[in-house]
Amino acid sequence: MQRQGHIIILLGPPGAGKGTQADRLSSSLGIPSISTGEMLRQECRSNSAIGLQVKSLLDAGQLVKDELIQEVVALRLMQPDCAQGCIVDGFPRTAAQARFLDKFLAGSAFCPPIVFDLAIEPEILIHRLSSRRQCPTCARTFQVVNGASNRCPHDEAELVVRSDDQPAAIRRRLEVYAENTSEIVRFYQNRGYHKLDASQPVELISQKVLRALGAAAGSPGDFARPLAATHQLYA
Ligand code: AMP
Repeated sequence: MQRQGHIIILLGPPGAGKGTQADRLSSSLGIPSISTGEMLRQECRSNSAIGLQVKSLLDAGQLVKDELIQEVVALRLMQPDCAQGCIVDGFPRTAAQARFLDKFLAGSAFCPPIVFDLAIEPEILIHRLSSRRQCPTCARTFQVVNGASNRCPHDEAELVVRSDDQPAAIRRRLEVYAENTSEIVRFYQNRGYHKLDASQPVELISQKVLRALGAAAGSPGDFARPLAATHQLYA
């Protein structure tokens, strides 16, 4: 079977910077990034059947059912643009999801996943999440601190607070993450698992990820070649 690309998994609590790193990696490596949170928010915005089913869970900072998100992710990974690999931000969030992904990948042409765990102290997260604003038009997120503009620099829309970035939902999301995380880390440890300090500058973290992937920092490079090198590191 002709092997397809790798799935790069970004683990880490809400606010650790997974979305930012996913965007940067996506441009450096030329593969798509998938955010399960953003896919679900899009379903809510369009009032689809899935959106209506999950909106109250998202607003409360609770996880949606494993079966539902697993189906959403599997369908997305089967799209042709993921054939050369993709970056997954926000999945798996439970050990059951990790086991599902493993089975799915084993039955597919994808190479084994490579996991980056963006670890960070809860106090830093609460500060980051409370000052996070999202553009309702392009869905980019920004930190709005010290009187910075509340308008999106890309399309001028007024930035909004995500409903799940309200203090009660933030606390719940961090609790939910802590409940599930150790099992997921145990699942991936010793097989392509890298822990990174997410309080470090964004650029430095990206460089570490690219270096771990065997790519020259900041250059898109050939995706297959650096990843083959990465695998030798784990052998
Ligand atoms: P995020 O943008 O990744 O913080 O996700 C926002 C919300 O979407 C989460 O608080 C959950 O309600 C839901 N969600 C995203 N990914 C998953 C997942 N893998 N499993 C269950 N719920 C998820």
